[in-house]
Amino acid sequence: MTGYPPGCAFFDGRFCAIEDARISVLDWGFLRSDATYDVVHVWKGRFFRLDRHLDRFFASAETLKLAIPHSRDAVAAILAECVRRSGLEDAYVEMVITRGVSPTFSRDPRDAVNRFFAFAIPFGWILRPQEREAGLAVAVARTQRIGAASVDPTVKNYHWLDLVMGLYEAYDKGAGTVVLPDDAGNVTEGPGFNIFAVRDGRVATPAAGVLHGITRLSALELLAEAGIATETRAVPLDELRAADEIFATSTAGGIMPVTSLDGSPVGDGRPGPVTRDLIAAYWVAHARPDWSTAVADPAATE
Ligand code: PLP
Repeated sequence: MTGYPPGCAFFDGRFCAIEDARISVLDWGFLRSDATYDVVHVWKGRFFRLDRHLDRFFASAETLKLAIPHSRDAVAAILAECVRRSGLEDAYVEMVITRGVSPTFSRDPRDAVNRFFAFAIPFGWILRPQEREAGLAVAVARTQRIGAASVDPTVKNYHWLDLVMGLYEAYDKGAGTVVLPDDAGNVTEGPGFNIFAVRDGRVATPAAGVLHGITRLSALELLAEAGIATETRAVPLDELRAADEIFATSTAGGIMPVTSLDGSPVGDGRPGPVTRDLIAAYWVAHARPDWSTAVADPAATE
């Protein structure tokens, strides 16, 4: 084995080592990004908000007219078995449904046999815990996020060319990652994360043109529980540039401070108090029985 992380996949109806899970080059999931997916994480042996991820996965598939060949409970059991067989305590668990291949090679997507697969690999971070104090250096791209009227951003998708080109813009500016604007000068999201701006103790995040991230939801709920005012609405880039604090949210790392924007420090250039408290609350919430389920027992909790 070379170049593969440890892990386990469920592929073509059976469990296998991650390196043995291989997709046909003819699959439209690969050739046309014609697919949807979701990623839930496992932390200390517990799925975090599995029901929310399953809700989003099944809703995304329905919107795209993709048929998941398993019940919701069966998908939950498959994910749990992938984690169990991987032996991982902290895992990144992905479920995917692609359009698949048409047996007659017709161009009609209705003829394709949809393909479901899932896998568990080690938990991955956009920003590692030891890098949190330094925070993310973010650039605002010129590249706009693909319009919501073209690709529904609430359907988790692999239309990432705008995000990847944005990343290259960020690297050219010496930043580590990027956020993309929409066509009206509002911020949308970045490669794998939602974005929040804090100003005078109030917290705002874009309502539209973005994936409704499960970490975004958790942040909004935890902030409300802490008595902090939150607003989901358009967030103009000017407001982002004037923010006291900025943070990003993702399954791949949780709540992540943004400490510089286009080379200028955000606030004093260190994670701010709202962000710090939210990071602490987010990791404590991983033990909540209403938000997490043991891998050994992925029964519904929410
Ligand atoms: N936005 C995009 C484009 C994403 O791909 C992701 C996650 O991969 C997110 C936001 C964050 O979503 P979540 O918090 O559910 O991981």
